[in-house]
Amino acid sequence: MANLTFAPGPSKVYDKLGGYFQDAFEQGILSANHRSAVFMDLYRDTERVFKEKLAVPADYRLLFTSSATENWEIITQSVVLNHSFHIYSGSFGKKWFGFAQHIQPASKAFVLDKNVELSVEDLLIEEEADLIAVTQNETSNATQVSNGIVAKLGKKFPDKMIAVDTTSSMAGVFLDFQLADIWYASVQKCFGLPAGLGLLVLSPAAIAKVNEKGEKGRYNSLSFMLENADNFQTHYTPNVLGIYLLNRVLTDMESIHVIQQRTETRMQRLETLVEKSPRLDFLVSNPATRSRTVLGVSGEEQFIKDIKKAAEANGMTLGGGYGPLKPTSFRIANFPAITDPEFEMLMDFLGSYGA
Ligand SMILES: *Cc1c(COP(=O)(O)O)cnc(C)c1O
Repeated sequence: MANLTFAPGPSKVYDKLGGYFQDAFEQGILSANHRSAVFMDLYRDTERVFKEKLAVPADYRLLFTSSATENWEIITQSVVLNHSFHIYSGSFGKKWFGFAQHIQPASKAFVLDKNVELSVEDLLIEEEADLIAVTQNETSNATQVSNGIVAKLGKKFPDKMIAVDTTSSMAGVFLDFQLADIWYASVQKCFGLPAGLGLLVLSPAAIAKVNEKGEKGRYNSLSFMLENADNFQTHYTPNVLGIYLLNRVLTDMESIHVIQQRTETRMQRLETLVEKSPRLDFLVSNPATRSRTVLGVSGEEQFIKDIKKAAEANGMTLGGGYGPLKPTSFRIANFPAITDPEFEMLMDFLGSYGA
């Protein structure tokens, strides 16, 4: 048995997946042609259950891509007219900005401190920027941007489109999809699935903008993807197994409002543990900017090394710190596929280790 992983991606997959793989094989899904009724029904049903469980407006569309990284490129390529304005505090937001700059060198960024909540009132964005890019859950430094902040951005900049990276929060917390036109994720985080499938959610306004821009000809031009999606097909032979597994996991899933509460309760218990700990500190000291799905914990280098090693010996893998934070921190994924007994095992371990 491999150790139970608390890494924030790739992360622990749902326990039921073994059976679903077998079902996919036995049902002939793995050889289904992506122009066949079998696939079109799968796409239609997956989009339906996705919207139902995650409270996504009925007129939004779900598209399948290969990763969140691909979505970074697609957004600049097929949606942005002039350039985008990026708001971020960590590595994933910075990477998104880099991909945007590669296509649109005029792209701009506002870099936030991880402990400072964005002050929308003071934010100035030039007229020419037609899209605001927000990393809602920054996995690298365990920060978040609340629905409230996204709402304020929309109010202050009604003529700009908002695109939101929710790669490590979608399906783990409630996201108010009405507040922005473009949302995306990949499935190896809160969806509890193996990597290799990206999700891209577009509002009718985003689709209208794609049509206005009229970019076409690339294998992942959004116009081409949307044309295929109109018939519940994809623009290339897709990850049918990934889509099938997504469908099964979504079908099992409780409403996001129920999941949101469980995520929050667990995170509060972890926070209490860190607050009381003489040896651990929050990576993010401001509770307002602290992620609800990924906890970042810092400590003295030797202690971090020892606790990670002890966790391994107890059958658990803690997520490593990201980039420069690696030696002095670890991260814990607070994702729905982790069961209650597994969560208790982690709490017991952290408590008994004198953390
Ligand atoms: C993991 C992650 C990505 C990259 O996801 P891929 O599926 O590897 O492309 C992007 N943004 C955030 C916030 C992430 O956590």
